[in-house]
Amino acid sequence: MTENTEGPFGPRRYRAWNEHVKTRYGGRVQKVSIEAGFTCPNRDGLVGRGGCTFCNNDGFTPGYLNRQQSITAQIDAGLDFLERRYPGTDRYIAYFQSYSNTYGEFERLRALYEEALTHPKISGLAIGTRPDCLAPEVLAYLAQLAREHIIELEIGVESCNDAVLASVNRGHDFATSVDGITRAAALGLDVTAHLLLGLPGESMESMLDGARQMSALPIHALKLHQLQLVRGTALARAWQRDPSSVPLLDELACIAMLVDFIERLSPAILLQRIGSEVPPSMKLAPAWNLRLSELSPRISAELAHRGTWQGCRYVATGSA
Ligand code: SF4
Repeated sequence: MTENTEGPFGPRRYRAWNEHVKTRYGGRVQKVSIEAGFTCPNRDGLVGRGGCTFCNNDGFTPGYLNRQQSITAQIDAGLDFLERRYPGTDRYIAYFQSYSNTYGEFERLRALYEEALTHPKISGLAIGTRPDCLAPEVLAYLAQLAREHIIELEIGVESCNDAVLASVNRGHDFATSVDGITRAAALGLDVTAHLLLGLPGESMESMLDGARQMSALPIHALKLHQLQLVRGTALARAWQRDPSSVPLLDELACIAMLVDFIERLSPAILLQRIGSEVPPSMKLAPAWNLRLSELSPRISAELAHRGTWQGCRYVATGSA
C-alpha cells in the first residue's frame, strides 16, 4: 500500500456511521434506549434455555433506563439524560435494544413501536433482534414504517462459523442469518448486522473470513463488538474455572485483528461500531487500559501506519 494515501474515507480510513448519518439526515442522530419487556426464544424455551453463553443484557443497559416505566416515560427519561449529555443532537430514534425486539405477537409489537413513534421527539426506531425472529408480517410492517421514519433493523449474527454458534448456545446457524438479512433487505430495510469477534473456537482465519461473508450480504452497516466477559454469564464462569478455556485478546491483538478485518470488509458497508465497553462493575475480563473512545483513533492510526483503509483487501465473491 502507498504510505501517504488516505484512501476514499479521509483520515478516519473507514466508512464511519456518524459521518453518514450527518450527511443523510442533516445532523446528529442519537439513540434513546428503551426496554419493552421482551424476552428471547433462546431463553424462554422456544429455541433454548439459558441464552447465549456470553449474554447478560444488563451489561449494555444504560443507567437512565427504568424498565418498569411505559415506553413514553422511558423516552422522556432518556431524552432528559441525553439532551444534557449530547447538546446539539438534531434527531432521536427509539432503540429497542435488550433481548429480541421482534419476538412476540404482531399486534403487541405494533403497539409498542407505534407508542415510540408517537412521541413528538422521536424520528424513528432501531430494533435489535435475532435472525430467527423475523416473521414476514413484521418485516412487511417495518418496511411500511420505513417509508416515513428512520427504521434500522439490527440483526445479531455474532459469528459466521456454525461450530462457534453451537458452542455458545446461540440456537441458530449462519444460514438463518443469511436468510433473515436477505429477506429484510429485499423489502428495502436498512439492516445492521452485529458480530461478536473473539468467541471461543474462532480462529483468526475464521474471523477474517467473516469480513468476506458479511461483505457478500445485503447489509447497510455492521457493528463489531470484541468479546468481553460479563459477570453472570456462562462464559465468565467457564473463564473463572479455567482461563485457558476462553482465550481473550489483549488490546494490541484486538486492534490488529480489527484492522485486518476492516481491510477485508467491503467499502460499501458502514461501520456503526468497532468495539464496545461493558461497565467496569459488570466486566470480568479482559483487563484493558484502553477506553472505547480511544479505540477508533487507534484503529485509524494503525490503518494510517499500514497505509491501508477499509476494503483495500476486499475481494468481491458474490456469496456468503
Ligand atoms: S444474546 Fe440475544 S439471543 Fe442470545 S440470549 Fe441474549 S438476548 Fe437472547
